[in-house]
Amino acid sequence: MSAQDRADASPSPSHAMSPGEVQARLDVGAEGLSGPAAEERLRRHGPNRLPEPPRRGALLRFLDQFRNLLIYVLLAAAAASALLGHPLDAAVILAVVVLNAIVGFIQEGKAEQALAAIRDLLAPRASVIRDGRRQEIDAQEAVPGDIVLLEAGDRVPADLRILSARGLRAEEAMLTGESVPADKSADAVPEEAALGDRRSLLFSGTLVVAGQARGVVVGTGAATEIGKVSAMLAGVETLETPLLRRMDRFARQVTLAVLALAVLAFGVALLRGWPAAEAFMAVVGLAVAAIPEGLPAVLTVTLAIGVRRMAARNAIIRRLPAVETLGAVGVICSDKTGTFTRNEMVAGAVVTSAGELAIEGAGYGPKASIMAAEGGDPDPETIGLLRRLARAGALCNDAALAPGDAGHWQVLGDPMEGALIALAARAGVAAEEPRLDAIPFDARHRWMATLHEDGEGGRILAVKGAPEALLPLCRHEAAPEGVRALDPAAWEAAAHRLADGGYRVLALAEARLPDDAGLADARLPRLTMLGLVGLVDPPRTEAIAAVAACRSAGIRVKMITGDHPGTARAIAGALGLDATGRALTGVDLDSLDDEALQGAAAETDVFARTSPEQKLRLVTALQAGGAVVAMTGDGVNDAPALKRADVGVAMGRKGTEAAKEAADMVLADDNFASIAAAVREGRTVYDNLQKVIAWTLPTNGGESLVVLAAIGLGLALPMSPVQILWINMVTAVALGLTLAFEPPERDVMGRPPRVPGASLLPAVLAWRVVFVSAVMAGCAFALDLWATARGLSVEESRTLVVNAIVAMEVGYLFAARQSRGSGFSAEGFRGTPAIWTGIAITSAAQAAMTWAPPLQWTFGTASLGVTEVPACLGAGALLLVLVEAEKALRRAR
Ligand code: ATP
Repeated sequence: MSAQDRADASPSPSHAMSPGEVQARLDVGAEGLSGPAAEERLRRHGPNRLPEPPRRGALLRFLDQFRNLLIYVLLAAAAASALLGHPLDAAVILAVVVLNAIVGFIQEGKAEQALAAIRDLLAPRASVIRDGRRQEIDAQEAVPGDIVLLEAGDRVPADLRILSARGLRAEEAMLTGESVPADKSADAVPEEAALGDRRSLLFSGTLVVAGQARGVVVGTGAATEIGKVSAMLAGVETLETPLLRRMDRFARQVTLAVLALAVLAFGVALLRGWPAAEAFMAVVGLAVAAIPEGLPAVLTVTLAIGVRRMAARNAIIRRLPAVETLGAVGVICSDKTGTFTRNEMVAGAVVTSAGELAIEGAGYGPKASIMAAEGGDPDPETIGLLRRLARAGALCNDAALAPGDAGHWQVLGDPMEGALIALAARAGVAAEEPRLDAIPFDARHRWMATLHEDGEGGRILAVKGAPEALLPLCRHEAAPEGVRALDPAAWEAAAHRLADGGYRVLALAEARLPDDAGLADARLPRLTMLGLVGLVDPPRTEAIAAVAACRSAGIRVKMITGDHPGTARAIAGALGLDATGRALTGVDLDSLDDEALQGAAAETDVFARTSPEQKLRLVTALQAGGAVVAMTGDGVNDAPALKRADVGVAMGRKGTEAAKEAADMVLADDNFASIAAAVREGRTVYDNLQKVIAWTLPTNGGESLVVLAAIGLGLALPMSPVQILWINMVTAVALGLTLAFEPPERDVMGRPPRVPGASLLPAVLAWRVVFVSAVMAGCAFALDLWATARGLSVEESRTLVVNAIVAMEVGYLFAARQSRGSGFSAEGFRGTPAIWTGIAITSAAQAAMTWAPPLQWTFGTASLGVTEVPACLGAGALLLVLVEAEKALRRAR
C-alpha cells in the first residue's frame, strides 16, 4: 500500500496533519531518508512513474496507413481492374498498396520511437535531502518520505506535504481547472477540504510559479492525484507539422486534379475510338502514374531523421514544427551565462572599502592564493573585511559543493553560488549559522536575502545581489574601523571597473538584527555594504566559432542578459558578437515606445539588465520587423517570451521545468553552439525535404505525360499500369528515401536564411520538375519507337522503357543531391552509404523484374539483351548531363 493510500485510509489525511505528524508517520527526520532506506522504499513502492498512456494498437496504426485519398483512388483502380477482367493488375495494385502501408507503418513506428526516446532525454530531476545532504536524483526515484526542495519554475515531482514554504504559489490547472495559481503554505487545512483547497499539499505534475518550499513525499507514481486521473495523461505527439499538413493538402489537390484529368483522358480515348475497357485501363495507368503515394512517408522520415540528428548535437526537439522553423531563423537571442559562457565561475576579484584583492585559484576547491590587487601581500584589515564578506556570501546561498572525481569539487546548484562557497573556504571562514528564513532571488529585483542566528544572541541578515540593486538598500559600509557612511559613488565606480573587465559583479551586504527579528521586521534599506565580488566566467570557445558561423549564415545573434552592461559588452566583444560596442539596458528599453523599440531591437546586439517582460517585448518587436526569432530562456518568468518566439529554446541543465515546457527545443548542454548546430540541421532538413519533393514529382510527371501523350496521340502505352506502379514503389522507397539521409551541403551555413512562408517548390524547382518530366517522357517514347523499329516484342519494349525510366531516376538522383552546386564533383559521386544501398536495392529489383520468370509473368516483362541494357544506362546518364547543364546555365547567369 502506498503512503498516499495510507494517508487516505487513515482518519486524518496528511493535509490535515501538522508537518511534524506527517514526518513521524513517514518515519523521516530533517536529514531526510538514508540511502538504504530510500532504496528499500523504492523496491516497495516502485518507481515514481505514471502508467504508460495506452498506445494505439499496431493493427490500428497499420489500418491508419490506408486512410488517405491517394490510397482510396488506388483501391478504386484495383477494384475497377478486377471488374474489367484484369485480376493480375488488380492484385499487383493491391500488393503495392499493402507494401506502401507496411513501409509507412514501419517508418512511422521508427519515427515515433525516435520521438519517445528523445522525450526520455528530458526526464525530470528532483532535489532531495538524503543522508542530511542535498542531492539531485531522477524524479522517478523519489519515494514516500523523501524530503524535496522546490523553487519557482520547478515541476512538483510527487505529491508532497509542505513542511515549510515561503511565498509559495503553484499552478494546478491540470488538476483543479483553476487557472490562477494557488497560494500554498505548511499550515494544516480541514480534513474535508476539496482538492483545490488543500493548500498544505503540492501535487505531482503541477508547477511552482513563485517562492520556495520544502516538502515530504506522501504519494508517488500511480498513487498521486494525477495518477488517479489517468485520462489526463499526455498522449503521444502526432507526427504533424505545418509543412506536412501543407504537403497533405498538396497531395489531395494532386489527387483531385488527377481524377479530373483521368475523366478527361477517358473521354478523349473514347472519342478516338478506343474500346471502353482498354481506355479505362489506360486511365487507371494514368491515375497510378500521377499519384505520389510514397511521398508522405518519405517526408515524415526526413523530419524524423532531422530530429535525431539534432538530438545528437544536444538540441532536443519538443515540438516537431521547430525542425522546419529552425531553418528559417534570422535572429537568435541568447542569454549569456552558461550559453555564451561556460558557467564555471571563480571569484577572481574582491573589492572592500579598504582595498582590492586578486584571488587566483581554479575550480571550486579551497586552494587559492590571495594577493593585493596591486601586487604583494594583502594587509590584515582587507583580509578581515574579505572574511566578513565571504561569510555573508556563503550564508546567502542555496548551492552546495560535493567532492567529485580526481579531487575536483562539483557544484550542486548555481555555479555562481558555488564560487562563493569556494571563496569562503579560500578565505578560511566557516559559515554554519543555521538559516531561519529567506527571500529567494528574483530576476526582477535581482537580490536575495537570508536570515540566520549569528551565534552571539542576535540575528544576521545576509544579502547578495546586483550592485545597483543593493546599493540603494545600504546606508553604511563595512570598514576596518567598524562601519562608516556609505560612499555610493566609489562603489559604483568599482562595480563599473570590474564589469568592464568582463567580471560578473555581485555586491554583498548584511544587517545585524535583534534575536527575535523576522524577515518582516528586517528593514532592508538599512544594510551595511560589505563589498563586491568579481566572478570570472570565460566565454565558451565553441560559442565564438558558432557566432561566426551564424554571421556567415546571415543570422543576427543578440545577447539578452540580466547581467551588468559592462560585463555583457566585454563578453560580447570576446565573442565577436557586437561591432558597435553599444548595449541597451532594460531601463533604456522601457523608455522606448513600441515603434522606437522595433528600430532599436534590430540595430542593437547587446541588451543588459533586462527582465523577462522586456525579453517578451524584444521578441515581439523583432518579429514585427519580419524576423523569425529564436530566443533562449531558463527562468519561470521566461515562459511567455519562449512561447512567443518562433523557436523557444530552454536550457536543459540550468533551465526550470516551466521554461522547458514552454520551449520548442531544449539544449542538453546549455551551449550556444548547439543552437547554431540545430539551425544547420534545420536548414538541412528543409533542403532534404525539397530534394525529396523535387526528385519524386518528375517520376509521376514523366509517367503521366507518357500516358497522356499515348492517349492523345492514339499510341499504345509504352508501359502497363502495373509497371508504372512498380516504378513508383521501387524508386520512391529505395531511391527517394535516400535523400532523407543527405548530409548538409557545404554552403548550408553560407547563405542567408530562407524566406519564411516561401513555397516548398520555388519556381526554379517547379521548372526543373517540368523539364525532367518532359525529358523522361521524351526518352520513353524514343526508346519505344527504337524498340519497335528493331522488331522487339511489346513485352521487351516495355521492359526497356521501365528500366530506362528507373535508370533516369538514378541519374537524376545524383543531380538532385546538390541543390545549387554541381553534381559532377568528387563529393557528388562519392554519394552516401544510403545512396549506394538504394542504388544496389534498385538494381537488384530491376534485374529481378527483367530476368526472373515469376516477376516476368506478374509484370508482363521480358529479358533484355546486351544492346538494350546500355541504352537504359545511357538514358540515365543523359538526364544527369542535361540537368547539370541546366544548373550550370543558371549559375552562369
Ligand atoms: P543571463 O540572463 O545571461 O543568464 P544572468 O544570469 O546574469 O544573465 P540573472 O540571472 O537575471 O541574469 O541575474 C541578473 C543579476 O542578478 C546578476 O548579474 C547578479 O548580479 C544577480 N544575481 C543573479 N543570481 C543571483 C543570486 N542567486 N543571488 C543574488 N543575486 C543574483
